Amino acid sequence: AHGRAWNFSAGPSVLPLSVLEEVQHDLLNYKGHGMSVLEMSHRSKVYSEIIADAEATLRRTLNVPDNYSILFLQGGGTGEFAAAYLNLFASKLVRDKQRKLGKQLSCDYLVTGSWSTNGLKEVKRLGGKPNVVVNGVMSAESGETSYTSVPPVVEWKLGNPDETAFVYYCENETVHGVELPQNMVVDAVDPSVPVICDMSSNMLSRPVDVKRFGAIVAGAQKNMGPAGVTIAIVRKDLLERDDDPEVTRNLPSVLDWCYFDNAGSMPHTPPTFTIYVCGLVFKWAEKQGLEALEQLREARSKLVYDEIDAHPEFFLGRVDKRYRSGMNLVFNLPTPELEAQFVLEAAEHNMLQLKGHRKLGGIRISLYNAMPIEGAKTFVAFMKDFYAKNH
Ligand code: PMP
Repeated sequence: AHGRAWNFSAGPSVLPLSVLEEVQHDLLNYKGHGMSVLEMSHRSKVYSEIIADAEATLRRTLNVPDNYSILFLQGGGTGEFAAAYLNLFASKLVRDKQRKLGKQLSCDYLVTGSWSTNGLKEVKRLGGKPNVVVNGVMSAESGETSYTSVPPVVEWKLGNPDETAFVYYCENETVHGVELPQNMVVDAVDPSVPVICDMSSNMLSRPVDVKRFGAIVAGAQKNMGPAGVTIAIVRKDLLERDDDPEVTRNLPSVLDWCYFDNAGSMPHTPPTFTIYVCGLVFKWAEKQGLEALEQLREARSKLVYDEIDAHPEFFLGRVDKRYRSGMNLVFNLPTPELEAQFVLEAAEHNMLQLKGHRKLGGIRISLYNAMPIEGAKTFVAFMKDFYAKNH
C-alpha cells in the first residue's frame, strides 16, 4: 500500500502501517489540542498524559513488575554501554558489597558479537576492568575468534559472585545475527548478581521474565519506534544510592538513571515525538500480544532459514543453528559479485536494505515485529528464483 517497499533494514526499521497512519492523521492537530505533538511543551498536561500512557502500556505489554522503573533516556544503545556500568558502580548494592569485600568488584561481560564488544570497550575506556566470560568461539581452521556461536555454559568463565558487580550481555547481536535463547544467561548466573541485558534488537519480539534481570536496556529504533529514545527497565533497588557526593562525581546527569527516575523521565526535555510514536507502537504490540509476536517471529524467520538450509552450498549461513537470530538473518552467497547482484535484483523487486553490515559484508535481512509474514514469503520467493537462475 502507498507504494511502500518491503523494508528489511536493521534499524531504524519498518514500523506498523497503522501506527504511521495514526501519526499522519493526528499530525497537524493532535486530538483537537490545536497543535502537533512535535510542537508541544513536554510540560503540558497533554504531553504528560502521552508519556505516562506510553510507560503504562509498555509495563502491561512486557509485564514489568512494580519494583522496576521504566525510564525514557537519550544517548542510544551506545549511551547505555557507559550508563549501565556507571550506574551499577554507583549503586548502594555494589558499594556495600565492595565495602564488605574491602576491594573493587569486577564485572562480567559476555562477548558474542560486535555490540557486546562495543559494550566491553566502553567499560575499558572508562577505566573499568571487565572480566570476559566468553568471547565468541574459536574457529579450528583459522585459529581466530568468530561470532557465529556461543560456547557451552560449562565453559563460561563467570566471576566469583561475591566479587562481581553485575553480568552484562547482548541478547541479540544485530550485526552477527546471533541470538541467545531466553533465560540462558539468567539461568547460568548466581541470583545475587544483577544481570544487565541489551535487548535493543529483540525487545518486544517475545515475552521476557523481567524479574530475573537487574536492568534491561534497548534503543527504540528496531521494534519499538523511531530513533531517538532508549528504554531502560531497572530494578528499583539498583537505584538506591549512598549520600556520599563521591558516588556521582564521574556520572553525568544525562547518564544517571536516578536523575531520570526521580523526575518521571523528564528531568530535561525528552525526545517528545519519538516517545509519542513509541507509545503507539506499544499499543499495537499490546494488541497483538507478545506470545503472538513470538509465534510470528518464529514463522517468519523459519521461512527464510528453511530456504537457506535447502541450498547450503549457495546460501551460506554463518551462524550455529542453535543461536540463529529470529530478527537479523545473515548469510553469504558464493561470491561478492553474486551478493551485489542479489541486493540489486531484490531492490528491483521492491525489497530494500538487504546489504550486510559494513563490517561483515554478505546479506542481512532483518525481520522485526512490524514485518508481516508476506514480507518473508516474498523474500523467499525471490531467493528461490535467484537460486534457480544462478546456482
Ligand atoms: N545494541 C544493539 C544490539 C544494537 O543493535 C545497537 C544499534 N543498532 C546498539 C546497541 C547501539 O545503538 P545506538 O545506535 O542507538 O547507539
